[in-house]
Amino acid sequence: MENCIFCKIVAGEIPAHKIWENDHVLAFLDVNPIAKGHTLVIPKKHCMDIFDADDEYLKEITAALKKVSSLIKQDLGATGVNLMNASGIDAQQTVFHLHFHIIPRFTNDGLDTWPKSDFKDTSLEETAKKIRGS
Ligand code: 5GP
Ligand code: ZN
Repeated sequence: MENCIFCKIVAGEIPAHKIWENDHVLAFLDVNPIAKGHTLVIPKKHCMDIFDADDEYLKEITAALKKVSSLIKQDLGATGVNLMNASGIDAQQTVFHLHFHIIPRFTNDGLDTWPKSDFKDTSLEETAKKIRGS
């Protein structure tokens, strides 16, 4: 897609530190990492976000997330990973080509990637019904 920075990386028009790829998926280092080895995994075919994604591509991406996470664990000594995706402006997505972050985690790394909130849902059953539609 024209003017999409990640499509340009796929096309080789702008440089990136590639980690792994196959016919459908590309993994490369985030230019502004929050941890050593912070990697982005993207479909080579443009789609905006999780809502817009083709199911077959999502299967490929999931398999790649496992593959690349395992490489990071094996080769960088990470003891775990956080897998993160932002889909939509209110979810703080900034690049509108679907991507999953792999955040490598290390013992005592001081990161806290889990969101904190004072939100309380007073009726989980009502919420579940709304989502289910029944
Ligand atoms: P989002 O906030 O949309 O989930 O994350 C977008 C990510 O893309 C950010 O972590 C940002 O550092 C990364 N990013 C933005 N532009 C580039 C780029 O040109 N090259 C690379 N490698 N990463 C980028
Ligand atoms: Zn794109």
